[in-house]
Amino acid sequence: MRIVAKGLTYTYNPRSPFAVQALKGVDITIEEGEFFGIIGHTGSGKSTFLQHLNALVRLTGGYLKVGEYDLSSKKCDVLGLRAKVGMVFQYPEYQLFAETVEKDVMFGLKNFCRDMGEEEMRSAVREALETVGLDYEEVRDRSPFELSGGQKRRAAIAGVIVTKPEVLILDEPAAGLDPLGKKEIMQLLHGIHGGWCKTVVIVSHDMDEIAENCTRAAVFSEGKVVMEDTPAAIFARSDELLLLGLDIPVTAKCARILKERGIALDTDFTSDDLIRKVLAAYAARKEGRGC
Ligand code: ADP
Ligand code: MG
Repeated sequence: MRIVAKGLTYTYNPRSPFAVQALKGVDITIEEGEFFGIIGHTGSGKSTFLQHLNALVRLTGGYLKVGEYDLSSKKCDVLGLRAKVGMVFQYPEYQLFAETVEKDVMFGLKNFCRDMGEEEMRSAVREALETVGLDYEEVRDRSPFELSGGQKRRAAIAGVIVTKPEVLILDEPAAGLDPLGKKEIMQLLHGIHGGWCKTVVIVSHDMDEIAENCTRAAVFSEGKVVMEDTPAAIFARSDELLLLGLDIPVTAKCARILKERGIALDTDFTSDDLIRKVLAAYAARKEGRGC
């Protein structure tokens, strides 16, 4: 499913003294198959944009199409859309509620797959929990509140992927986790991406995460998209990102320091690539070839 937004606008509390224009004309195209990143300051409109993608926020201005679903149309089949576009909110573990992990994960299925039998549902829950790296037999009858922080996050993600959505949207999926927990979340997303989950869209504050994982990304600023490109092209514009008050990946910081010292590297800002290029530059210097 291709996602195309043109001139998307959205105002919270319109016609009131508390009106806030969150989106001021968002243009963005996310192709099927991408692992797409969204970055930008707090308040730049990222979450408001995401919530448009499965009609949690109804479109009030502009054009938005997600696959064949035209959200600009009043006749849009919102339930059909939500079955195909899974949404994992920020800190999704706060939405765990059922007595057991199994019941929690099954909840989403009961909403979307009403004609599924009990056994089929159990096997879908098992598959979802195993996909997120939890042992079904071990966690199924436990309270979700007994799990560790990283496990709760993964159980909450299982509750969304249990319906196998074609597009998976995650708002800050790794926020607040320790480095290992973050790595596990990214590994699990890569594990499902390319199978039934064709497209992944993540919001992240972590520029290294974007540089290492995404095929393309968009930078939001004050309710608009100000850059949309590969991470390599976006982080090559680190001066502009810093001017916008955004961070840059550690690799981009290293590349800037090296450039100041006369070593200009053509890198895509993944750590593997940067290390390769630094070693090549070092070898070239040693041989007196310069760089
Ligand atoms: P981000 O996810 O990039 O931090 P948001 O989409 O949450 O940005 O917010 C964009 C703007 O809309 C901000 O100014 C924010 O304060 C405002 N906003 C977000 N949610 C609401 C809401 N429910 N009611 C009123 N204003 C909101
Ligand atoms: Mg947000």
